[in-house]
Parts: sequence; structure tokens; C-alpha cells
Amino acid sequence: MEPTTFAASGYDLAGLHLFENVTDPAVPALLASCTVLHLHAGQTVPISSGEACMHVVLRGTLGMLIEATDRLQPPRTEKILRGESTGELSVLDDTARAPILTALEETALLVIDSPTLWRLVDETDGVARNLLRQLSFRLRAANVQLRRREKVGEFYRRLSMADGLTGLHNRAWFNARLPALIGEAHAAQQPLSLLMIDLDHFKRLNDEHGHQAGDQALRVAAGVLLHALRPSDFAVRYGGEELSVILPGSNETGACMVAQRLCERLREAVVFDDMRSPLPHVTASFGVATLAPHQDADMLIAAADTALYRAKQAGRNRIAC
Ligand code: GH3
Ligand code: MG
Ligand code: MG
Repeated sequence: MEPTTFAASGYDLAGLHLFENVTDPAVPALLASCTVLHLHAGQTVPISSGEACMHVVLRGTLGMLIEATDRLQPPRTEKILRGESTGELSVLDDTARAPILTALEETALLVIDSPTLWRLVDETDGVARNLLRQLSFRLRAANVQLRRREKVGEFYRRLSMADGLTGLHNRAWFNARLPALIGEAHAAQQPLSLLMIDLDHFKRLNDEHGHQAGDQALRVAAGVLLHALRPSDFAVRYGGEELSVILPGSNETGACMVAQRLCERLREAVVFDDMRSPLPHVTASFGVATLAPHQDADMLIAAADTALYRAKQAGRNRIAC
């Protein structure tokens, strides 16, 4: 259908949020010459070149396409129902942003151009008040969206730093955090120790009891670490059947005591496979290294690895400091 003017369209202001409780006769007079567009379902609102304008839904429903901002936020269509409007922000801050608006059913739209909206605001307190309320709703909705996206982003960030099997920190976390923790220890002249832990004969456990039993043993080993450590310590799945513990604030004596305790607890831990029958006890070898002045992350890891090698050579199921 051809566009008409508001005066000739037969619509009135009843039920339009922007004009709620506005009885001023100046308003219909100002709107009289504004365009009313009639759209069939699926028809897109023609983009007015140049100046921004506001659209008020007189009848039907409009769909506004919200572009994808990232992979977590795919494109979606926001519905604008009868009585609601869109585009007021573009008019107020004078940006000719033109989202794609599509009629979701037979729809009639009142188009209010920028000079007319400003005159409505200047001349009618009620319109100004309604516009402010509308903007505050938008602001709140945008804040809720933002907080939701922050939470989703945080969720995925945490997920990418955690090991899926054991729930411990993963290697990416270790690579990012260890140098920072070492930097803090050097700056505060505080000790820091690192344990490298390797489960003994793990290939044999897998071969004899199956991969799922091996997975369960890894989970149990991770649980032993988590239960035995202080909240300020960090347990990590370094890779495969290798685990690691960062002990900020622990000197060599303290770290060896922790390693000894973990070694004993692991030796005593019972692992059940899927059939609920206990598996042979799992043991681990521990390499302990304490940060020396001028040492960086690579040097500390190498020192802990060397100690771990000695523990393996000496017969496994033990610690080497
Ligand atoms: P060592 O005492 O010398 O450490 O012997 P090992 O058998 O533990 O060491 P090796 O490096 O030969 O084998 C490690 C095994 O750990 C092989 C691999 O299949 C197993 N493994 C690594 N990651 C996983 C996992 O996520 N699940 C299971 N079930 N097994 C794993
Ligand atoms: Mg290994
Ligand atoms: Mg091993």
C-alpha cells in the first residue's frame, strides 16, 4: 500500500508508549504530516537516506536484526510490538544508524523525522518524559545484556583454562600464570616452589585395566592434590599423566614436606574402575624445586624435571628434592 500521512491514515495515538498520558492537541497537529508506511509480512523498511528518524509501530510487529558481535552472540531478531518504537537514540545523538527492520506481519509504521521529534520534545513535557523513560528502559536492557555477555565470556575463559578430565588448571593456565607468580615471588622476595609429578607405570595400568580406569585414576590423583593443598597453592594437569603443583610462599623444606604428604596420600588412595572393584594402588614420583634468585619459569621447571628424573631412577613412588 502507498504511504499516507498520519492525519489521513485513520490511526490515533492511543496505546503508543511515546504518547502515553499526553493530551496536548499540539501533538496530533505536529504529527499530521508525518509519513505512515504500510508493510506486508517480510517487507523491509526502506532506509531513509540522510537524516535519522524514529519508527513507531501503529499496527503489527516489526523485527529488528541485531548483528552478530562475536561467536558467542549470533545474529538475532528483536521484536518491536505495537505501541513500541525504534530509532529514538539515532535521532537524539544524530547518527544515521539504520538497522534492518522487517515487518513480521501486516504492519503500519509512523515515521517521525528528527526535526519533528525535537519539536515534540521542546513543546510537550509529556513526550519528553516518555522518551526519557523509554531511554532508561533501553539502558537497563543494554546493561543486563552486557552483564550476561561478561558472565558468558568469563565462563568460556575459565573453561579454556581448566582441564576437562580432572578439573585442575590446564597447561595453558600454567604457562600464563607461573611466570607471573615467579615475578611476584621475586618482587616480594618470597620463596616459591614447584612440584612436578608423574604417575608411575601408568601405561601398564591402562594396558591392564583399560583407558577408562586410567582416566578414573587421573581424577582420583587430582582429587588427592586438591584435598591436600592449601587454597593459596595451585594444582595443574601439566599433560598426560603428569601433574604439577605451584606452592607460592613455600621454601625447600616446606615443599618437600608437602610433596611427601601428597606422595603418601596418593599411595593410599583407592581407585575404583567402572565395575566398582578397586584397582591396584596408583603411585607417583615427585620432583621438587625451589626458586633461586634470577631463575625464570623455564629454569625452575627444568630443575623440578631433573629432580623428578632422579625420583624415577631411584625406584619411583618417592620424592626427590
Ligand atoms: P613411568 O613410571 O616411567 O612414568 O611410566 P609410565 O608408563 O607412566 O610412562 P609413559 O610415558 O611410558 O606412559 C604414560 C602413559 O600415560 C601413556 C598414556 O597412554 C597414559 N596417559 C596419558 N594421558 C592419559 C589420559 O588422559 N588417560 C589415560 N587413561 N591415560 C593417559
Ligand atoms: Mg610421563
Ligand atoms: Mg608416568
